[in-house]
Amino acid sequence: MSTVPREAASTKNEPLTNLLFDYPGADIILRSQDCYHFRVPKASIINSSLILSKLIQKNSDSPDDANPEASLPVVRLPESGEILHCLLTFIFLVTPLVPSTPEEIMELLFVAQKYQIGTALTHIRGSIARQNSLPTRLEPALHIYALAQKYGLRPEALQTARTILNYPMTIEDFGNKLDIMSGASLYELWKYHERVRAILSSDLTELRRTCAHGTITGVLCTELGSSHVPKWLDQYIESIGKTPSLFDYAELNIAMARHTKDTANQPDCECASISSHTIREFWGALAFVVDGSFKKAESALSLVRDQEDPQAQINSTTSPPETFDISDTNLIIRSSDLVDFRVHKPVLAMASPFFKDLLSLPQPSDSEIVDGLPVVQLPEGSELLNSLISILYPIDMVIPNSYEKVLYLLAACQKYEMASVQSLIRAEVSRGTSPGPKGAEAFRAYAIASTKGLIPEMENAARQTLEHPMTFEVLGEGLRLFEGWALCDLVDLRRRCGDNLVKCLDSFLQVQPPWPSSIWFGCPENAQYYSDKSGKRRQSQILPEWLSQLLSLSRNNLNLQKFTEPLDLHSRIRGEYLKALHTHLHCNFCMKVHAEEGLTFCVELENKLAWAGNKARGDRKSPCFDFSPFPESQELGGPLIVVSNVAAI
Ligand SMILES: [Zn+2]
Ligand SMILES: [Zn+2]
Repeated sequence: MSTVPREAASTKNEPLTNLLFDYPGADIILRSQDCYHFRVPKASIINSSLILSKLIQKNSDSPDDANPEASLPVVRLPESGEILHCLLTFIFLVTPLVPSTPEEIMELLFVAQKYQIGTALTHIRGSIARQNSLPTRLEPALHIYALAQKYGLRPEALQTARTILNYPMTIEDFGNKLDIMSGASLYELWKYHERVRAILSSDLTELRRTCAHGTITGVLCTELGSSHVPKWLDQYIESIGKTPSLFDYAELNIAMARHTKDTANQPDCECASISSHTIREFWGALAFVVDGSFKKAESALSLVRDQEDPQAQINSTTSPPETFDISDTNLIIRSSDLVDFRVHKPVLAMASPFFKDLLSLPQPSDSEIVDGLPVVQLPEGSELLNSLISILYPIDMVIPNSYEKVLYLLAACQKYEMASVQSLIRAEVSRGTSPGPKGAEAFRAYAIASTKGLIPEMENAARQTLEHPMTFEVLGEGLRLFEGWALCDLVDLRRRCGDNLVKCLDSFLQVQPPWPSSIWFGCPENAQYYSDKSGKRRQSQILPEWLSQLLSLSRNNLNLQKFTEPLDLHSRIRGEYLKALHTHLHCNFCMKVHAEEGLTFCVELENKLAWAGNKARGDRKSPCFDFSPFPESQELGGPLIVVSNVAAI
């Protein structure tokens, strides 16, 4: 796809390999990262981009050794030949070349933005608009939105965010697509969605008040809304404020069809005969309001790169800690907030192979010296370094006052290879010195632990998240801490956990020994009998109906439940068991079983349900959860009894 203007080709007959672009008056060669060449006039490049101009002044090699016949200075650029070729067509205004995939188009825009070539950016965006190059389906739109966030391309991020809002926005709708982007980009999308909803709700209330700007008036219907618009239509308009994806002509038709079906043959309803002209007028008024609301919400969509690092927010301290008074030190470690800690090199080297290697290297000639001591600058804040140093010396350990800070401390230990210090902190946490994550904070803890590769903390937090709904509302700003894969793994964990709970209930629906429910065989109510081969009358092995109904209903509910709902059956099942048993107080058999073995049964049920949500195992290299299959009853070594639980029954 060489773009070689004719007049240029006549002046030079170049043997240059991979020559993609040759412009008249060329006096410089640009070389792509994959070795394509572009002959261009230096002045045009310098005029179009200050950044490229500086690069050319700094980096142009003298005539290329490999191609001495080219005899022009060569500037190497990190972009691919294809992207550079497209970019140059927009600088030199020859026939424009737009890459074939949306991903490459985003890269082209990014490069034009990086080199600050404003005219090229405008022309590329014009081309994209003419060719409708941005996707309209959800998954490609999510990909492009993620790229737009990554490259800092605001107009494209906005345009695709708007497309994404044509689809329902919940965690279950995104499901396996959650790893397309970082949690931070997803959070911005969610924030934008919430802002759109708020503005839409208010603007649509006004639209409803004015009978859709007077487009719907005088329509007779069995039920009218607050502003004399048929109620179904009023409700449809209102619903768009809650779920913007309902702004879709098909959704209006569905709402209308549902209503006219319900009111068929009712003379008071004229909705079926609303003219197509009126519907078009109404839709135009609605579209005008919706577009306006989306425009008003645009400022709510931020680019992730403009945001403050969430880790810095968590670890920021208002007053730096007082440093320890340690004598005879020979090294200063400096925190990101410029607090100096004086330490002993051997102490640091003994605790950390990382520092041992670092300190064994000769000191760079330009390194800073304070009071004769070399300074090592670290990216961690003073509060964290204060804790870390307190653990290295025989002084009072300073354990951070929040679990999130503990996680960052553990992560620093991991980074500096301080295994024994890390174990000490973990021991302190399990002794209860530091608070664990409370409630839905488990999601944030999981996000930090998974990003930092803290496997035990990640597994622990993941288990705790199961008891809470997994929605955008609950995740909140904590979403910014997530990597996309970590969200996906959590979804996967919940699905597998749900399956495991169903298997667990299945095992309790078994009535034959040695399954735990076999103790309930023999309830005379609803008993069925049959004659065996020898003609003996025997009772069919079925569970008492109150129990079988309780277990089946729980099982069916689990099957119907969305993966985003809490998986907390183990904490509810005892109450439900007692409630079901209460309907059966008249049965002496079941009362006797309950009195003798009911507690053990109930606790076993609780423990096995909890176990089903507890067997998560992480793999350090590819963090994911792996459930062991649900164990046979015997594998657990008899009934599990938790004394505190028994006492509570
Ligand atoms: Zn009607
Ligand atoms: Zn019974």
